Amino acid sequence: MADIWMGKIKGHISEARNRAKADKLEREAAEKHPQSIILTKREVQGEWDASRVLLTTLGGGAARPITTNDLAQFRHNMRMAQKNFNGDGITARQVIDLASSRPMPGTGTDTDINRAKKQISMAVPVSAFNNEIRFITNAGPESDVTRHHVLVRFNAFAEAANKLMASTTKERKDSKQAANWLRKQKLAFDCDCGRHRYWFRYISTIGNFNAGRKELGFPKIRNPNLQGVACKHVLRVMSEVESSISVLNFLTKHMIKLRDSQDNTARHQAKQSDFDDDVKKKSTRKQPKPIKTSVQRERERQRAKEREQLHKKAKQVTRITRKPAATRRIEAAMESGKLSASDLDVLRRMGFTDNEIAAKLKG
Ligand SMILES: [Zn+2]
Repeated sequence: MADIWMGKIKGHISEARNRAKADKLEREAAEKHPQSIILTKREVQGEWDASRVLLTTLGGGAARPITTNDLAQFRHNMRMAQKNFNGDGITARQVIDLASSRPMPGTGTDTDINRAKKQISMAVPVSAFNNEIRFITNAGPESDVTRHHVLVRFNAFAEAANKLMASTTKERKDSKQAANWLRKQKLAFDCDCGRHRYWFRYISTIGNFNAGRKELGFPKIRNPNLQGVACKHVLRVMSEVESSISVLNFLTKHMIKLRDSQDNTARHQAKQSDFDDDVKKKSTRKQPKPIKTSVQRERERQRAKEREQLHKKAKQVTRITRKPAATRRIEAAMESGKLSASDLDVLRRMGFTDNEIAAKLKG
């Protein structure tokens, strides 16, 4: 990985907001347009004007006009997708697991999670305001921007704040524990990239883990089967949220500010120098860190357990086979007839230790 400069932290919030605003305006214009091609919520529900010609890729192949049967299939796909989510939000771990078990297929191994592993080596938390944490990630090789903004909203923030009210202002331990707890809880996310916008925003909306603009227009062309769950930027961020030390440290600082605040609110921003250091550390790695699913983590735990057991067994075996030198010499002497069992018995009764007996045998 080459050395990458990820830009200035200063101004990152307005950059993210400007992109969100442009996206919103574009979307509104698209819906208002007389020849709008957006398939609305009510149309999916069956209020379908058959004279409208909209296309879908459902069933594979080239785009073709939508029929009422397709609408029934869309509703079915929604129910199937919603089954994967329960309640408000989703955990970072669930996002990674779903992205790998139910990927939006590309060509060959080209899924979002594979792209996240190969192309997105960096996801750094830059600012936090209450439950919202902003991350900056690098962009993929074919992107027209140099970085992306991913917003993560932690649903359990208020609960963390209440927990911290019972903690003293001197301890760092409680804040770290709260941070570690918070990052395993449910969250919502948003990314400013096109993949999130056209493929996944609808899914995050119907699954209640959308932290940005709602999308109620069905992705009839790009993702009619509602597969996958998150873009490569979000997936890298989720992996960091779940297991990186830098996110834990960042969240801990935020939790300390929360604990020490008068009114259970907190604001925290990374320093440019820390950000640059973090980026440098990540960009000079030979390989981006792996993104692990629950299945992979479980397999690794099993393997570690097996290794440990093997190690234990090996230790036991050595203990049995490696008798003390004196014992080995006595046994050899008995085998060769140099020492009889009764002689040994006598010597031991006289108080000779095995070492002394072995020394005698040697002499
Ligand atoms: Zn994205």
